[in-house]
Amino acid sequence: MATIDGLPPLREVIARHGIAARKALGQNFLLDLNLTARIARQAGDLASCDVLEIGPGPGGLTRALLAEGARRVVAVEKDPRCIAALAEIAARYPGRLEVVNADALALDPAALLTPPVKVVANLPYNVGTELLLRWLEPPDWPPFWQSLTLMFQREVAERITARPGSRAYGRLAILAQWRSDARIMMTLPPEAFTPPPKVHSAVVHLAALPQPRFAADAAMLNRLVAAGFNQRRKMLRSSLKPIGPAIEATLRDLGIPPTARAEEIGLEDWCRLARAVAAERPKGGRAG
Ligand code: SAM
Repeated sequence: MATIDGLPPLREVIARHGIAARKALGQNFLLDLNLTARIARQAGDLASCDVLEIGPGPGGLTRALLAEGARRVVAVEKDPRCIAALAEIAARYPGRLEVVNADALALDPAALLTPPVKVVANLPYNVGTELLLRWLEPPDWPPFWQSLTLMFQREVAERITARPGSRAYGRLAILAQWRSDARIMMTLPPEAFTPPPKVHSAVVHLAALPQPRFAADAAMLNRLVAAGFNQRRKMLRSSLKPIGPAIEATLRDLGIPPTARAEEIGLEDWCRLARAVAAERPKGGRAG
């Protein structure tokens, strides 16, 4: 069957290059090029951007990104079996696809890219959250990326976009929403993938804000949120005790009930708390 880019259908590519899916690499492939085109379009205009793709696999999403007009795609793939298949795509789009055979966790991608950069990926489930946290937590802001358009397990997508008071609300929601606008763009059933995973998936779009939504020191915010949600059933006065003996008074001063639980506290109050705790500390003093 003819494809939009004149390259062979993905099933044929996979068979020819012997890329049987491996669970250990989180390989659930998208073989429908209409679907990968829809996902690529969630990232908006690509013509003036470099795109970083993590885990191109046999190249279904890569082909869509290029067909949708991405200026350049840098695709980082750990599995050496995929590299020859990806080289065929690079030959179809001269000068626009760079394939890097590497572990994305061991690579600084910013050095390979020319801004503005959009990240678009059907992430391997086993490293997806780790990569997202790295992209959300650089010491300086704005980050190297303008937006992230990422496929996750639906449960992770819901944790990224969760609102206070919900069970999904936690560290991931706070870190993501502090520095970006995060939205679920589409959900996909297991059958959309080969082989099908056990759970539904969702594409999340995160647009980096020029500056964090509310002022706060990133390390302090992270520390407070980690302490609060590590013991999310406990009241803040006890879950935040490791932060310091004055925490209950600080909460009271800010009008945050010390008896509230972490999941009841909105982003702005977490940031107010981070500022207040930082201001109480002697310069250069220990954080604990
Ligand atoms: N993008 C392809 C698609 O949509 O069909 C494949 C997506 S599959 C869910 C995840 C891909 O990430 C696989 O090709 C896998 O080999 C690759 N991968 C897994 N761990 C990786 C890592 N640490 N660094 C780079 N790629 C990785």
